[in-house]
Amino acid sequence: MKLTKADRELIEVAREAIKQRYRNDWQEVGAALRTRTGKIVTGVNLDAYLGRMAVCAEGVAIGRVITDLGEAGIETIVAVRHAKPTEKDRTIAVVSPCGSCRELIWDYDRNARVIVPGEKSVTVTTISDLLPNKYKRGAET
Ligand SMILES: [Zn+2]
Repeated sequence: MKLTKADRELIEVAREAIKQRYRNDWQEVGAALRTRTGKIVTGVNLDAYLGRMAVCAEGVAIGRVITDLGEAGIETIVAVRHAKPTEKDRTIAVVSPCGSCRELIWDYDRNARVIVPGEKSVTVTTISDLLPNKYKRGAET
């Protein structure tokens, strides 16, 4: 799917979020999502000294939605990664959600659109395309 103007705006909001809060090794990824009610909510990742306690930016953004707005759904979500000071390429690039975030996004809106890097340029897909055969406990539907 091609990006809409609203998708491009969402990418810019995610870039601004991580630009404001970037700290090398601590906050390097920003996320922005648009709820089904049209609100834009951001998050940045929480890295942690105890690595397994780290939380992805998408999870922080979804947590803010649930805390502030309740079940508002996810119309579209995007994550972007800020380059480290040692990297030559300073672009804040769109990154694909990790496997855990794919589960989380699906749980909070199984019809969410997700902005991802494409082969040539950034594109839009759906969470169900990114997460075929989602984890299920036993035979529940
Ligand atoms: Zn993740």
